[in-house]
Amino acid sequence: MDKNFQDEFTQVIKFQPPLYKQRHQFVKDLVEKYKPKKVADLGCADCSLLWMLKFCSCIEVLAGLDICANVMKEKMHTLSPLPVDYLQPSERSLTVTLHHGSVAHKDPCMLGFDLVTCIELIEHLEESELKKFPEVVFGFMAPSIVVISTPNSEFNPLLPGMMLYRHPDHKFEWSQAQFQSWALETARCYNYSVEFTGVGHPPTGMEKVGFCTQIGVFVRKYPRTGESVQSEKPTEAVYKTVFKAVYPSLKDEKYLQNAVISEVIFTAQIIKHRLMSKRKEHGDDPERKSKFQPSMDCFSDYLGKLVVEKNMEPFVTGNEVYIPLATIFSFPKVNRLCGTFEKLCKLIAGKVTLSSDGSAVMFNIEHENEEN
Ligand code: SAH
Repeated sequence: MDKNFQDEFTQVIKFQPPLYKQRHQFVKDLVEKYKPKKVADLGCADCSLLWMLKFCSCIEVLAGLDICANVMKEKMHTLSPLPVDYLQPSERSLTVTLHHGSVAHKDPCMLGFDLVTCIELIEHLEESELKKFPEVVFGFMAPSIVVISTPNSEFNPLLPGMMLYRHPDHKFEWSQAQFQSWALETARCYNYSVEFTGVGHPPTGMEKVGFCTQIGVFVRKYPRTGESVQSEKPTEAVYKTVFKAVYPSLKDEKYLQNAVISEVIFTAQIIKHRLMSKRKEHGDDPERKSKFQPSMDCFSDYLGKLVVEKNMEPFVTGNEVYIPLATIFSFPKVNRLCGTFEKLCKLIAGKVTLSSDGSAVMFNIEHENEEN
């Protein structure tokens, strides 16, 4: 490399966004593309990649592994559900787990993942660990996709203030040829294909240097059969679980029931409110008194159609207002939450006051009448 040319860049190379963010964004894009349900991040350090991934709606299981428990614990609280997650449980389920252990050891908790990420991990491994790494990740865990990123040593002369390696804990840093030959051999051995890319572009005119961070994306060539997944793996647990968070989800009947009850009462209240306003407007007309009357706004139009089409009108008898469950069920949000009318009835049974035949939500308006 021309020394002058090199000097010129040593001063100016600064990645925007920072390189670690570009690596994490690369993983996020991959997740958006392949939509894995179960993702494990090996060498997860301060859990920042896991935190970013918890917002990807396709992911239902997230796991992190690191040999250093302290670095994982520093920010692991950021992986816990927030109050808003309880107030509005998500439709997907999500479990986040952190394990303390080494990628040189097999543990059954690492089975069944679709995507395994190893971002800036391998260069931290001792020779003996690096030797075991392919068998653990590609042989044992055998996910559909593995992403491995590692520094490209050919880029190092362009980085300001470089010592031997980019980080004091690095055991090696590979050139493009070294990484690619290791990756191709690993892929061949475990029936994966591998493609090379990276983040952190070299300056114009120095493309040969390659990306600052080199990345291999490995894709398993053949699907694993159910048998081979189960039978070959009588492995004992060696990792220690240091964190586990189960996010509230509508897949859990308890949260679904709460959401349905709130939505049913909310919908019924709105219908009742409209009905009462109309009654006030037409208070002196006995024909109109107990019937719901459509008006010009969307909500009332919608209700009006239901009334005409299906004879599902709300009605008033004495101090009681009745909103048919069939009407409430026809509202998109209630419908989507419950799926079937039977399920709606089951979820609200004993939790919402109903008419004696169970077909309508009942409100007593005695006190409202008094106030008026
Ligand atoms: N993946 C992180 C940074 C990784 S730094 C990111 O994207 O920002 C490397 C991490 O690997 C460190 O946290 C280190 O503790 C961990 N590590 C080193 N050797 C390991 C091993 N044998 N098994 C698991 N983790 C290991």
